[in-house]
Amino acid sequence: MTTTQTPDLKMAAETAPAEAVNTMPMETPELIRRLVTDENICVLTFDRPDSAANIFDKAALMELSDHINYVMCNSNIKGLVLTSAKKSIFIAGADLTQLSKARTSDELRDMIELGQVVFSRLATLNIPTVAAIHGACVGGGYEVTLACDYRIASPDKVTKIGLPETQLGIIPAWGGSTRLPRLIGLPKALDVILGGKTLAAKPALKCGLVDDLVPREYLVEKACQLILKRGMKLRARKTKLAHKLTTLGPVVNMITKKVSKQVFAKTRGHYPAIPKALEVVTQGLSKSLDDSLALERDAILELGTTEACKNLIRIFFLQERAKKLTGVPADTAPEAKVKRVTVVGAGVMGGGIAQWSSARGLGVILRDINHEALAKGLAGIAKVYDQAVKRHAMTKLEARDGMDRISASPVDVPLHSVDVIIEAAVEKMDLKKKLFAHLDSLAGRETILASNTSALSITEIATATQHPERVIGIHFFNPVHRMQLVEVVVGKQTSPEVVRRSVKFVQQIGKLPVVVKDAPGFLVNRILMPYLIEAGHLFENGARVEDVDECMLEFGMPMGPLRLIDEVGVDVSHHVASDLASKFRDRMHCPEVLSKMMADELFGKKNGKGFYLHNKKGKEPTVNPRIDKYTSGTACAKLTREELRTRMVLLMINEAARCLEGGIVEEAADVDFGMIMGTGFAPFLGGPLRFADSVGIPHIVDEMKRLADEELRFTPCNLLQTLAGTGQKFYKS
Ligand code: NAD
Repeated sequence: MTTTQTPDLKMAAETAPAEAVNTMPMETPELIRRLVTDENICVLTFDRPDSAANIFDKAALMELSDHINYVMCNSNIKGLVLTSAKKSIFIAGADLTQLSKARTSDELRDMIELGQVVFSRLATLNIPTVAAIHGACVGGGYEVTLACDYRIASPDKVTKIGLPETQLGIIPAWGGSTRLPRLIGLPKALDVILGGKTLAAKPALKCGLVDDLVPREYLVEKACQLILKRGMKLRARKTKLAHKLTTLGPVVNMITKKVSKQVFAKTRGHYPAIPKALEVVTQGLSKSLDDSLALERDAILELGTTEACKNLIRIFFLQERAKKLTGVPADTAPEAKVKRVTVVGAGVMGGGIAQWSSARGLGVILRDINHEALAKGLAGIAKVYDQAVKRHAMTKLEARDGMDRISASPVDVPLHSVDVIIEAAVEKMDLKKKLFAHLDSLAGRETILASNTSALSITEIATATQHPERVIGIHFFNPVHRMQLVEVVVGKQTSPEVVRRSVKFVQQIGKLPVVVKDAPGFLVNRILMPYLIEAGHLFENGARVEDVDECMLEFGMPMGPLRLIDEVGVDVSHHVASDLASKFRDRMHCPEVLSKMMADELFGKKNGKGFYLHNKKGKEPTVNPRIDKYTSGTACAKLTREELRTRMVLLMINEAARCLEGGIVEEAADVDFGMIMGTGFAPFLGGPLRFADSVGIPHIVDEMKRLADEELRFTPCNLLQTLAGTGQKFYKS
């Protein structure tokens, strides 16, 4: 063994020699089962009790270490296979709860070193080792397989392989940053590690993350055969010449220079884990394994203390929380699962919802007013399925089965056996009321009557029905197949049972719910609109499109606000902005530029012309050279990018605080979660309210008051003023 042992491991080795480990009664339930085959191959099956997942916490690492002791001390063992008994998870990585709790102390160092040492011991065993992978094999779960000689995986769609650590603000530090570039070459390893990528089985094979694909039921058998047939030849793989070339100093330098430029352009320095991963991977290549592992360890210790890392890990936990969210008793019977849905309206959203639901195994009735609209909707759905097949997210057969689960109808069909009806017709209150009255008469006694409206009142829609307690908003975001967030909008009369069932439905189809009160704009649009409106005001008062958008990209938004207006559609933005402005006259006023642009048929991306020109396929849009004709003042022409940004961000924070103040959601975390998942609000900042806490609420209030002297819309809300006055924050920790 070449690596230094941690005190923990020394203790394990001293107090628990292999034979003793083998016979010692287990005090805690075992996480890894050991079986030795007739041919003397040791099979370790990860199977954490009472859990659908395997993860690496300290106990699992120690247990693996004990099994390695056993193998080392039994010279008759010819090979080792690692596998999992779980339905959809091989090993889902490190225990983030343990890691995040430990991140400020020496415990983090101990945990990292423990993983490194155990995996290095696995890598240096003098018998062949094979990982037989079925299900999610990510982070530490993939790093343990990198310490094996060979990796085979099932081609199943639950098999996902990769190193997503940089998305959590850390780097692979259990050998991943060291072993992956040695296995697949520098450029591909950088692509996976810096991109925090997780690949489906086929692309993982193509990229070299695994060596072969084998059906799940034969995985272990095949792994044993490989060991018996090829023995230590499994380890002695030939390094491709192309890989060798990428380890040469000048080539490494060239790649580093190029990638660092691309990384900076993409992240603008907000995600320290990405340049750090680049540094560790490239520098580690010219070092010994041990020295490279030391680089990994030092890097993760440094990254673990950054705000970006803390916020990214918090988002991970918020996503986990949404998966298990409220009010759904753990013992809810499986019969409560939704089996059939009806989607009314086969447009952009209805089509998206029908596609997503059918892909998750639900039967879907898709309704629209005529065959033409349905044909258009079905063509859009087929396109999304095709793309999913191309991305290897599903097989052709699965896509065909999904399509087959949708039945389209231009006329009424019986709906009493449908569990959920989701209306996604055009955004007009009269129409929706008529539709709901009719749907109510067709629906069964238990059917949930949901609307996908972006802004109309659920409570008012419900008045058209005999059963307002069954009416709710289930608001998906566009595009449905990409956006995970769904707002579950609770009307005044919606029953708690319908809320629970709706939340469960959203979770059942793999989306992340946030429960919000029925109020104009609900949560996400309510906070987003003042920001987009302000961008419009700044532009019409002389600020340049480039400055308005660029300053928000610098802040960390995925897209500038004026570009976002183009993407959403100038007409749709105008509609939502005017609607909200009519409800919040004290602080919102739809910018005139939007109606002027509409009059000249500048609708944004949908017709290629808006604040930008979007014509060239595959090319970034360029600022519309004639857009200046829509400015009507010069008051904002001289504002710096920082001043522009301050105005837009302050208005978002203020509205976010108002949502909390008005009980639109229950906690600050709901607001931040909604904004990050619904709009891509700079994730490394943790959301608008977390950001306000980190900047200091008194400072925010002072800034707002200064601006409010001239423009009343900047008046800070009561909650902000109270928090500033009492020295409190949105979050306690
Ligand atoms: P769309 O115009 O693309 O589609 C609307 C569909 O509804 C059309 O196919 C139309 O023929 C059909 N329709 C009209 N009247 C109908 C009726 N009486 N019965 C059945 N079908 C009927 O609209 P969209 O963008 O998909 O929006 C649908 C709803 O979703 C709206 O309430 C909208 O506010 C909301 N929404 C839209 C987005 C978005 O980004 N587009 C996002 C979230 C929510």
